[in-house]
Amino acid sequence: MTSPVLPLDLLDLDSLLTDEELQIRAVVRRLVDDKVRPHVAGWYETGHAPVRELARDFGALGLLGMHLEGYGCAGSSAVAYGLACLELEAADSGVRSLVSVQGSLAMFAIWKYGSEEQKQRWLPGMAKGELIGCFGLTEPDHGSDPANMSTRARRDGDGWVLHGGKMWITNAPVADVAVVWARTDEGVRGFAVPMDTPGVTAKEITGKLSLRASATGEIVLDEVRLPADAILPDAQGLKAPLSCLTEARYGIVWGALGAARDCLHTAIAYAGTRTQFGKPIAGFQLTQAKLADMALELQKGFLLALHLGRTADRGALRPEMVSAGKLNNVREAIAIARQCRTILGANGVSGEYPVLRHANNLESVLTYEGTSEIHQLVLGQRLTGIAAFG
Ligand SMILES: Cc1cc2nc3c(=O)[nH]c(=O)nc-3n(C[C@H](O)[C@H](O)[C@H](O)COP(=O)(O)OP(=O)(O)OC[C@H]3O[C@@H](n4cnc5c(N)ncnc54)[C@H](O)[C@@H]3O)c2cc1C
Repeated sequence: MTSPVLPLDLLDLDSLLTDEELQIRAVVRRLVDDKVRPHVAGWYETGHAPVRELARDFGALGLLGMHLEGYGCAGSSAVAYGLACLELEAADSGVRSLVSVQGSLAMFAIWKYGSEEQKQRWLPGMAKGELIGCFGLTEPDHGSDPANMSTRARRDGDGWVLHGGKMWITNAPVADVAVVWARTDEGVRGFAVPMDTPGVTAKEITGKLSLRASATGEIVLDEVRLPADAILPDAQGLKAPLSCLTEARYGIVWGALGAARDCLHTAIAYAGTRTQFGKPIAGFQLTQAKLADMALELQKGFLLALHLGRTADRGALRPEMVSAGKLNNVREAIAIARQCRTILGANGVSGEYPVLRHANNLESVLTYEGTSEIHQLVLGQRLTGIAAFG
């Protein structure tokens, strides 16, 4: 099955992209059409995606750590990376999450804050998709407020002992390495923890009704002994994990548009063939009003994402800009998915169509990488100078 081609680019926004960007998008779209779309509804239904196989396919195309330089990474522009996220998430948010967590969280943390040895050890294999990474910040009792995390690392001779637990960790059940954040006497520090280290266990979280084509797990760290070289030397304080989150959120700003686009494609196609009261439901003014409003939000979201991407490529992107993008584009994407669901009527709740799957996935996207409320607080602080988090 290939991506439907429908006139969604009302404002000719493709004209804002370079030939190279359009080419990258086409290549990623082809891969997604070939390797993901035909199977993803089944993965979602069973709650199991072939994560390792997908990682190798994505690695072969240079999608893992795509925007990083060196160590086997593609060194693409922020805009090219964003376009790739959009195409991946047009298939499924869980599939895009695999790429985001691998590239923007686990690889970025090692790339930015790791020692040369850590980079050499992990990054080339992760770029190829031969090694899978995860990023452990959230805990059972600390989500939006990671500053109060309970996981502790204490010095033990030359090395460290890590104790605690992480929750809701994407890729954890299949990961080879976890970037784990813990409190120490010197503040929050990050560690590259091989998942086969004694004392580390990862358990799959089952029963999710969202992001079912993504492996999510709980990590238990029971007096885990780590050598001195497991610590990420340049990550000092909470700003280090937060900077990784900014990277991943940037991909979500684009990715969420992909889920919305796929819903809108589906709704327009459905409305054109579904007949009620003697004519296609696409011919009713109320349906057209819905479609027009959704198409506009999609185009506005794209302009926002592209602006952030061009700003990132100039080296001028600030975290609150990414908060603005994540807040708007995920909020609008989930509204579009729910509205498209109404256009499909009863078929909207069927797994034969992707719309409710996207809507359910976007519930996770709304929550992870900072909830909407947290991004509102980030913007509120920027506007007023007052931090209202606590
Ligand atoms: C499928 C999935 C995958 C995930 N993958 C990862 C991962 O790979 N790595 C990782 O570290 N984490 C991951 N997470 C966790 C995610 O980042 C957290 O769920 C998120 O940060 C919110 O934390 P919480 O669930 O504990 O909610 P809480 O922090 O308990 O928040 C609950 C509600 O309270 C609101 N709230 C909290 N504080 C305030 C405040 N000050 N003012 C107003 N409202 C507030 C929130 O906005 C939210 O609506 C994942 C989550 C999901 C669902």
